[in-house]
Amino acid sequence: MDNKSPILEQIGAGRSSSSKKSFLAVALMFSVSLNIYFLWFDKDQTSTLNAEASLPQEVKPVVQTLATESTNSPSEEVSIPPKENFEVAKASFEPVESVEGGTVKALSFKIKNSLNYSLCKIMSKEDGCRQLAAYISRLLTWNININKEMRKGDLVRVIYDSLNNQDKFQVLKLNYHSAFHGQVFSFSFYHTPGKKYGGYFDNKGREIAPRIVDIEAPIRDYIEITSLPGDYRKGRFSGHRGTDFKADVGTPIYSSFEGKVIRRNWNTRVNGYCLEIDHPRKGVITRYLHLSRALVKRGEFVKQGQKVGESGNTGRSYAPHLHYEVQQRSGKKKFIHPFKSKTHKFVKQEVPPARKDEFLKTATGYDSLFEDS
Ligand SMILES: [Zn+2]
Repeated sequence: MDNKSPILEQIGAGRSSSSKKSFLAVALMFSVSLNIYFLWFDKDQTSTLNAEASLPQEVKPVVQTLATESTNSPSEEVSIPPKENFEVAKASFEPVESVEGGTVKALSFKIKNSLNYSLCKIMSKEDGCRQLAAYISRLLTWNININKEMRKGDLVRVIYDSLNNQDKFQVLKLNYHSAFHGQVFSFSFYHTPGKKYGGYFDNKGREIAPRIVDIEAPIRDYIEITSLPGDYRKGRFSGHRGTDFKADVGTPIYSSFEGKVIRRNWNTRVNGYCLEIDHPRKGVITRYLHLSRALVKRGEFVKQGQKVGESGNTGRSYAPHLHYEVQQRSGKKKFIHPFKSKTHKFVKQEVPPARKDEFLKTATGYDSLFEDS
């Protein structure tokens, strides 16, 4: 994407202070927008927000949830929305600044209660505050335990492109000042020429999110990981069992290891076209859901890295993505987190040396958009 000079021109075009909503409006917005958001964003997602009132404010972790999906796993139960127990306290929140111009916007705000809460104080539901909060959460999840490590007063500075469409955000830059970690986490969007999709990189040009090594990867080209296993919630749900890779329909899907296809296209109403592959030598079973095409048959032996299908948006899926599950082969059902186990190897990509200067220019160019920089 073109992400440099036009921004610099647009950002000076106009600015307005954020609108301040009344307490009641915020409370109403929360109760309504939570439902609207999850209906709109991905119907198989769920969320619970909690306020731990007994702890003093200074040590109270800010409870923040990541979007997850809980109903498209193979043996999923019928979902009932969890009971809301989020209490809105009267806030004395003031945004640090809010600048906007054109479609690229810069926001600075401090965390109070939660990321959702803080963002929706300075940005309306119509402008997609909850979607942007979910987007920021996904970026932060590789560095910060969002449920435990956010602190009141943490400063968040974000530059994003709303792409003239409420539901489509492109965060260009995110700086998160973490009191818990005593450091600033910085994320810059950069699309390395020649790569299919861009990604987020720290100030040294290292990608924020790890990637499964190609030979073990179920998908190699994807826009971002939108949900991870173990995004557990308090309430009646089990957590998300897989990893969701957002990708265009038709992206090649590969068998992570050698094995045998043991199921194909079961429970398609929920799973869409799907595959289940047994990997006895690896001791795991893998599942690939919401495919547009499954290219191998039940009983067929597949090699590691063999193309077995193409990603899609079938079954209970509201945006094109691959849902990838890894489960232990024996014993009780135990789901494996690909980025927290030894089942997969992963790497962190870097901006190629020849592109480092260009990247650094882009990253510092974003910073100059903040008013006080
Ligand atoms: Zn999923």
